[in-house]
Amino acid sequence: AAAESTVTFEGLFASELPELAVPWQAEEAPEPGLLVLNDALAGELGLAPEYLKTPEGVRLLLGNHVPAGAIPVAQAYAGHQFGGYSPLLGDGRALLLGELVDVGGRRRDVHLKGSGRTPFARAGDGRAVVGPMLREYLVSEAMHALNIPTTRALAVVATGRPVRRDTMLPGAVLARVASSHLRVGSFQYARATDNMELLRRLADHAISRHYPDAAQAEHPYLELFASVVAAQAGLVARWMLVGFVHGVMNTDNMTISGETIDYGPCAFMDAFNPGAVYSSIDVGGRYAYANQPVVAEWNLARLAEAMLPLFHEDQEQAVAPAVEALGKFRSQYSDAWFNGMKAKLGINGGPAGSKEGDEASELVDGVIALLKDGPVDYTQFFRSLGQAARGDARPARGMVLDLAAFDAWAGRWAGLKPDAGLMDSVNPVYIPRNHLVEEALAAATEGDMGPFDRFLEVVRAPFHERPGLERYTEGPPEDFGTYRTFCGT
Ligand code: AMP
Ligand code: MG
Ligand code: MG
Repeated sequence: AAAESTVTFEGLFASELPELAVPWQAEEAPEPGLLVLNDALAGELGLAPEYLKTPEGVRLLLGNHVPAGAIPVAQAYAGHQFGGYSPLLGDGRALLLGELVDVGGRRRDVHLKGSGRTPFARAGDGRAVVGPMLREYLVSEAMHALNIPTTRALAVVATGRPVRRDTMLPGAVLARVASSHLRVGSFQYARATDNMELLRRLADHAISRHYPDAAQAEHPYLELFASVVAAQAGLVARWMLVGFVHGVMNTDNMTISGETIDYGPCAFMDAFNPGAVYSSIDVGGRYAYANQPVVAEWNLARLAEAMLPLFHEDQEQAVAPAVEALGKFRSQYSDAWFNGMKAKLGINGGPAGSKEGDEASELVDGVIALLKDGPVDYTQFFRSLGQAARGDARPARGMVLDLAAFDAWAGRWAGLKPDAGLMDSVNPVYIPRNHLVEEALAAATEGDMGPFDRFLEVVRAPFHERPGLERYTEGPPEDFGTYRTFCGT
């Protein structure tokens, strides 16, 4: 275990916030088998991949070997699920192993999902299965490659234990890495204890880990809140720009860091559709594609409520400043989205209100109108506009129904001399297409990791078009039908 001794785990969350941490042990895995390991991320953490492939290393990735310094804990949190408040959720099948300071000096959580029942498990079995854990691995790595802040996937280890779902499926544990696992729901939980000192300690912990500059602000806790608002506005704009539907934006699934977390029922849109919903349980469409900014703002209002006593401690008239901080979400979101759309169109546009700014704004509205008009593959369409910027508009034109509208729009757009290189650096060729994800997971569940491994390589370089990968750019086959995703599998 020489390799392990080069890094030391810390139990910072566990020791600073014991009220939110239940020391716990992972369930023993009968027959561990490493399915996929993120060598590059392991290296970043200072964990030698060669070590993680040894029997002891694999047991570490399952939580069965507790490394020096680690205090594995189940984290307590509350949360609004589909708008309804649950005072006690917590890690029902997950453990925070501890934190590591990576080679770049950043503190990172190492967390295990599917590691067995905890005191928060309620009716759940505490387990996870191979397909959904590989799904989180693939989609979160794709998101990272798309330059979207996210938790990272370190490994998936098969446990060798069959797990009962609709059928018996192979069990697995996902090891993931995050800048922290603090959630809006962590603040809701602390607030509900009525322990002001705990709430303050949680906020101080969040400031020191994510927004150290806030400590110097006139009102540090308000500044912390404003920082989370800004981070989430930027994050959700990035989701929207790539056609990502998170699927379960409960307040316990929204981070304080601004990283995407919890890849249960998420999916990427194929055809553009503002109402796109994939989660089998989201019958009302609360978390539909176009609702995501509104839901994020709603969740941030719940964070403000949880933090309100801290704001009050800081200044007497605290409500108006908190409302004002929350109120910035809309413009921050719109600016991030609009700037992102301009980059997708390869145009600069001047400042809002200028002639160039108005022109850019009309072109962005125009492209959304074209997308709304017909079933148009969102990813393919933007990528093909890069070709149009190089002089060949036929592929893009061939995707839309209203050719006259396209020609009018494209004529104006071409007049702005769009930058094809910029477009290709923000419009991916390869995304985790739902039908390909399902294909890869079905094969992996049968023991064949080939399709998964190949797909992972493809989505790790999403902007770089390579020959021979055409099938990864195509939309779903006609018989694919309506895609449905599931939470908690
Ligand atoms: P999620 O929808 O993944 O955010 O999960 C919501 C809550 O359900 C979290 O507290 C999870 O830890 C818990 N949970 C999900 N699946 C299981 C399971 N199989 N066993 C125990 N708890 C679970
Ligand atoms: Mg969750
Ligand atoms: Mg989950």
